[in-house]
Amino acid sequence: MKIICIGRNYAEHAKEMGSALPDKPVFFLKPDTALFGKGQEFYYPDFTNDLHHEIELVVKISKHGKRIDEKFAGNYYSEIGLGIDFTARDLQDEAKKKGLPWEIAKSFDNAAVVSAEFIPVSEFSDIQNINFHLKINDTIVQQGNSTHMIFKVNQLIAHVSTFITLKQGDLLFTGTPAGVGPVKIGDQLTGYLENRQLLEFFIK
Ligand code: MG
Repeated sequence: MKIICIGRNYAEHAKEMGSALPDKPVFFLKPDTALFGKGQEFYYPDFTNDLHHEIELVVKISKHGKRIDEKFAGNYYSEIGLGIDFTARDLQDEAKKKGLPWEIAKSFDNAAVVSAEFIPVSEFSDIQNINFHLKINDTIVQQGNSTHMIFKVNQLIAHVSTFITLKQGDLLFTGTPAGVGPVKIGDQLTGYLENRQLLEFFIK
């Protein structure tokens, strides 16, 4: 399986990063070794001093497809979960400055936190109106609603599958809302999709 991540898909986040709004979806990949899930321990990586959280809705691809038309994209997923696109912001800033790829900052082990539980799409009346948020300890640090995506889920699937074949089990991180920021050792992170807690772990 592969993990496909969308960058700059919420205007307020692009603004906080000082990035222009994209006219096409921006995407990058994380390897399967980046997956972090329930039962694992999360250790602060020693190669960064500025590890940032990015809470994101994650779409699980349910069917093999390429060059998927936007109007059929809904047939290619049936569940939505929650993830954190961990980013070594210091390494990313350096890579951006030099015009280098982002993998060093985004694709390391445990950089893709994914909820164990995924919710069937059928439980939502509109997947482009889902609330989600991330808490660090007792404070809500990021709050989003999928209505604010610049490119909607079906557009993302159509765009990505133009270039890359999607396979059953692939995960699509759909971008983070504003409010990204650092985590530190000892923090407890909890992630919520609507009012369901889907993520909970400590930074060790
Ligand atoms: Mg992200």
